Amino acid sequence: MSDRLPILNAMTVDVEDYFQVSAFDPYVCKSSWQERPGRVEANMDRILEMFNKFEIKCTFFTLGWIAMQYPSLVKRIVAEGHDLASHGWDHTMVTKLGRAEFEQDVSKSKEVLEQVSGTRVTGYRAPSYSFTKANDWAHAVLAEQGYLYSSSVAPIKHAFYGIPDAPRFSHERENGAILEIPITTTRLLGRNIPCGGGGWFRLYPYFISKWAIDRVTRSEGKSAIFYFHPWEIDPDQPRIDGIGSVARFRHFQNMKHMERRLLKLFGQYRWGTIPDVFGQEFGNTQISE
Ligand SMILES: [Zn+2]
Repeated sequence: MSDRLPILNAMTVDVEDYFQVSAFDPYVCKSSWQERPGRVEANMDRILEMFNKFEIKCTFFTLGWIAMQYPSLVKRIVAEGHDLASHGWDHTMVTKLGRAEFEQDVSKSKEVLEQVSGTRVTGYRAPSYSFTKANDWAHAVLAEQGYLYSSSVAPIKHAFYGIPDAPRFSHERENGAILEIPITTTRLLGRNIPCGGGGWFRLYPYFISKWAIDRVTRSEGKSAIFYFHPWEIDPDQPRIDGIGSVARFRHFQNMKHMERRLLKLFGQYRWGTIPDVFGQEFGNTQISE
């Protein structure tokens, strides 16, 4: 452990099942979710075991739907000392919601997560980083609902999401009531390149991800924010009928290497929850238990 870099980085997992990802939305009716063979519990068993082994505490952005379906999983996340946060109710992208619908989504998910876990939920991550310029009211809604931090902005150019000119590092919103903590990027040829996990971590060879994370954590002296999903360590998950070749490629690319790469990443950096790394920057409202 002594060879780890001193800076503390934030480890995060978006707790959702393989059939709930946004890319499969057109092919998977939400009403069919309950009949599909769930794999999130088994995958989370392995993730919690890995974190235990590496003594890592993590922020788990969890769907309200998952909390309702798997209450013991949510209780276990909290019992093992991790940070429980919201990933919305049923993974509807914020780009598809009006302000009133978003209010319902974030209040319902917070309420259910808090009821099931018996702990206060202060963090939120939008499904597929779907905070954009068009839904600029979203941070105000989070502040009204009692959230303290959000990790919902990707400061990159992407076909479906992203705010390319958003700040790359944590910044206050709503007069300091909300701390926004964007996904980690590095600068290359005048552009922000994502290097905080997800499909990119599987696409690039590990040494490229490491080079990019080192640029952020060593050269810029900033904490990295990394994210992955339980379904990304599960190459044997059932295939969804009818999905297009691009969505299939993005979902499954290099999945068989994922677990090995994660283990390297866990060992080479210091990781904690988002409140561990950024809690001192949280706004006006104090966390009270
Ligand atoms: Zn998600």
